[in-house]
Amino acid sequence: MKTKIAVANGDGIGPEIMEAVIKIFEANDVQLEYEFVEMGKSFFDAGHSTGMTEKAKETIENLGILFKGPMETPKGKGVKSINVTARKVWNTYANQRDFRTLNGVNTVFSNAGMQINLTIIRENIEDTYGGIEHMLTNDVAVGRRIITRPGSAQVIRYAFELARRKGLKKLACGHKANIMKLTDGIFLETFYQIAKEYPEIQAYDIIVDDLCMKLVAHPEMFQAIVLTNLQGDIVSDLCAGLVGGLGFAPSANIGDNISIFEAVHGTAPDIAGKGIANPTALLLSGISMLRFLGLTANAASIENALLYTLEQGIHTGDFGNRNTTSVNTQGFADAIIKNL
Ligand code: NAD
Repeated sequence: MKTKIAVANGDGIGPEIMEAVIKIFEANDVQLEYEFVEMGKSFFDAGHSTGMTEKAKETIENLGILFKGPMETPKGKGVKSINVTARKVWNTYANQRDFRTLNGVNTVFSNAGMQINLTIIRENIEDTYGGIEHMLTNDVAVGRRIITRPGSAQVIRYAFELARRKGLKKLACGHKANIMKLTDGIFLETFYQIAKEYPEIQAYDIIVDDLCMKLVAHPEMFQAIVLTNLQGDIVSDLCAGLVGGLGFAPSANIGDNISIFEAVHGTAPDIAGKGIANPTALLLSGISMLRFLGLTANAASIENALLYTLEQGIHTGDFGNRNTTSVNTQGFADAIIKNL
């Protein structure tokens, strides 16, 4: 029986890359049924304050899985990001981003023969992302940072469970508890408390600035790192840069009832509608969704086809050897399908 999932094409390059990914899924006979939902900037403009229709919300809540393209954040005072709202509404408390060296994607590290394979688990709801800010005087702005013990515990537990499932030997906690003794202090304390339940995993902590330096100098040292929201946001983009940029950065927003799979990048308005966007990040997010749903054979064969295509030097125009010819979005999807 096919598993039903909700799909939101998104804005900008969203529909182009989603079409390419679903074409690859269908060529591999993935047993999924897609229910397309109304979500994105145009629905926000039409008066839906959360950026989605009631029907879309209901469908996503019933199905529990949303595969989504990037969505434009409407501009203006008091307007919240559709993406951040969706994560909050459905309590997707853990944001998982997997980064690995991909053959055919040249970086300073891959050229030096260094293999990167690391996962960032970022708290996804708390911290400064509540947008609780006000002007104290005309010259002084104040923002609130909220970190709770239960909020920290759920993402940290997810990180340890993931490490156990993946058979990892170590998990780091990135933090700034030396300065933010209460907020980051709670996060770090909770990390070591939960670590006691996972004696087979080496738990250690590292101050976030030192972490950034070590990630750039020795990324191969790390297997998985759990962080609070803002620090995790910044560190995960740093990690995207280590493996070739945003075009290769997938993401999963995990909650107890609903999980959202999407690329890390945005709507790329500068290239939208041209059919040249790189679908790799969305495809990698789709592959982790297939694994999450237990469709592991499909995940493995699509992943192998993607890796082989990149190894062949086939690439979209946003990266790769400028001396080789690049293909457009559909051409890249077709090349992967040929390698399935
Ligand atoms: P962006 O990621 O859309 O684009 C940054 C640069 O990377 C651009 O030059 C773009 O062309 C390029 N790029 C991004 N994805 C690419 C791809 N798949 N293939 C080739 N090139 C790619 O970031 P931005 O310009 O800061 O944001 C644009 C919009 O997207 C904003 O409204 C922002 O709020 C939104 N956004 C949404 C999400 C999401 O839905 N999760 C994430 C980030 C940004």
